[in-house]
Amino acid sequence: MNRSIIDSHAHLGWDSFKEDQAEVIKRAQESGVCQIVQAGVDFAGTESMLKLAESHDWIFNGVGLHPHEAKHWSANSADFIRQTCKHPSIVAIGECGLDFYYEHSDKESQIQVFIEQVRLAVELNMPLIIHTRDAWSETFEILRKEGGGRLKGVFHCFTGGPEHLEEISDLDFYVSFSGILTFKNAQNIQAAAPLIKPERYLVETDCPYLAPEGKRGKRNEPSFIWFTAKKLAELRGCSLELVASESSNNARRLFSLPQLQ
Ligand SMILES: [Zn+2]
Ligand SMILES: [Zn+2]
Repeated sequence: MNRSIIDSHAHLGWDSFKEDQAEVIKRAQESGVCQIVQAGVDFAGTESMLKLAESHDWIFNGVGLHPHEAKHWSANSADFIRQTCKHPSIVAIGECGLDFYYEHSDKESQIQVFIEQVRLAVELNMPLIIHTRDAWSETFEILRKEGGGRLKGVFHCFTGGPEHLEEISDLDFYVSFSGILTFKNAQNIQAAAPLIKPERYLVETDCPYLAPEGKRGKRNEPSFIWFTAKKLAELRGCSLELVASESSNNARRLFSLPQLQ
């Protein structure tokens, strides 16, 4: 069967793919991954992301500053994002958000820098790729306050549970499932999976991190997305084909990706 799926969150420009990026991309394509969105985490990596998209018209990008990097926000950062958004491969602001689990940047600067990027998303009318960890209430509060109903976006690598779904649905946001969904100790995420509306979920690898069960301990790559999609189909009691087509349609709608020929 000819299946296709979108990997809505990957980091193909990172060092772990330095040696064999082309093969990884080829394997992705051969497995049926038809479009990939790379998430930005810092500004230094942006140029190579744009270049990769220029030679692969089915690869797209987000631009933004990860909460771990928040301390590196400067007076030029907002303008850098504005300018970069003019590149045709840019489909989102992010990943950005709050990570109070690691706190690689202090909470105050994380909050400030997240607010800046949410405001840019409103200004530029772009969807947000949200990274949030141990900071649900603060994240929701900022999105409600700054968004005023004009925001759209996705909670990437969803690690919440059923208790977060009402708020997410009120915000009109999407949820994206990563390989974590396949882990044995992910009961809360697994409990949320069948409760999400068919038009509100995406799937992603977040590669090179978070290889799914079956590939655990290995470097993750876009072709492994099928493990997560399969688990999701199992949890939702539907076919893998349906998960592939629903999640891809949703990613395409959220990021305004082109239809495939
Ligand atoms: Zn993330
Ligand atoms: Zn990421």
